[in-house]
Amino acid sequence: MLTGCRNLSWRFLSSAHRSNLTPQTASCWFDSVFVCVPSSYPSPVPARCGFPSQQTSVPLRPSLHFPFTRCHSHSAPSSGPMDLQEVLQVLEQLAPLSLAESWDNVGLLVEPSKARPVKTVLLTNDLTEAVMEEAEAMRCDLIVSYHPPLFRPIKRLVQKDWKQRLAVRAVEAGIAVFSPHTSWDSVKGGVNDWLVGGLGSGQVSVLSQALGSASQNHKLEFTVRNAEELNTVMEGLKALDSGAPLQHSVTSSSDNSGIHISLTCSDSALTPSVQTLLRHSAPSQSLSILQLQKHPLPGHGQGRLSILEQPLTVAMAVQKMKSHLGLKHLRLALGVGQTLESTVCTVAVCAGSGASVLSGVRADLYVTGEMSHHEVLDAVAKGTSVILSDHSNSERGFLAVFRERLAVRLPDSVTVAVSQADRDPLEVV
Ligand SMILES: [Zn+2]
Repeated sequence: MLTGCRNLSWRFLSSAHRSNLTPQTASCWFDSVFVCVPSSYPSPVPARCGFPSQQTSVPLRPSLHFPFTRCHSHSAPSSGPMDLQEVLQVLEQLAPLSLAESWDNVGLLVEPSKARPVKTVLLTNDLTEAVMEEAEAMRCDLIVSYHPPLFRPIKRLVQKDWKQRLAVRAVEAGIAVFSPHTSWDSVKGGVNDWLVGGLGSGQVSVLSQALGSASQNHKLEFTVRNAEELNTVMEGLKALDSGAPLQHSVTSSSDNSGIHISLTCSDSALTPSVQTLLRHSAPSQSLSILQLQKHPLPGHGQGRLSILEQPLTVAMAVQKMKSHLGLKHLRLALGVGQTLESTVCTVAVCAGSGASVLSGVRADLYVTGEMSHHEVLDAVAKGTSVILSDHSNSERGFLAVFRERLAVRLPDSVTVAVSQADRDPLEVV
């Protein structure tokens, strides 16, 4: 009965859907992603020199601290054939891989040895053998599999393991495989925003905030006695060839206590920079090291909480999610004291297996793909109702949304399709 439960009309051919979408409209989509965020993240620890910091005590009085700057711009769609690297650049612009969780295995997982133009891209939630057959039949050049088909390290490529079989088939067919996984979950406008949007508009916030990365992770502060010592010290630092330019500022003290220097450096430059400073008496006696704190990326992160503009009943929420996910059946656990007519004002969602992100979140309703028996019991005991769709059913519908966004950024020579063979392995029977 479940085959009919799923929306099987997710295959779209790019040319049919491009007519009313120009590269210009497409390029507006993720403008908000690529911004430079000012260094004003509040910290419970008093900021030093305008930077929020976490002071620690180690022999040289180092403290720890981090800047974050993420400045990107997206490129215009190419008009001619695209090679794999160009398509990967577009995928990166739509959802930077830096947004993925540290434990994840995202990005290009299989790269053919012989480069060829990318003419067909197949989007799938999971790369199964059925999806691989579909990809081979359509002479696909690139499979974008939301879940990474290669996740744990492997020591061999043999036929008895189904994932290794798929990797070999991809290599033999010259098909590249890319996985975005948690970068799609995290990105503003990604899987979780799509999921929470199924219950209507609301004031949406991120449950687990994404933080930016920074190449200059450390700030060194020290004092020199005069300009001559400053020149000597800075010459020594510049000679380190740390791979990234040292950025520094100089402040002369009004009480003749010396010249105060503040410079930022990367992880790799930290130790040689400190060694250089320790060779000079005034810097070695005044040195403090801050680790620069990562800045939040507004709108990006795992899970979403929505304060609904129009509160729903639990029954209405169930119907809306069935429609949004294209399912005839969902599982519902009513919170203690709740009925189908109880009001839902706040909803917390996490695509996939969401218990770790949803745990402790106060909301009238949780929506996720799967939770364990005991995790559901914990939620309902707090009066929170839970809707479960099965894991991939909470994710798969985003493929059609992403297909539109990707297709308008690629030339007409590239067909972008959503797999028809991809489906959740669980059915209600
Ligand atoms: Zn998942």
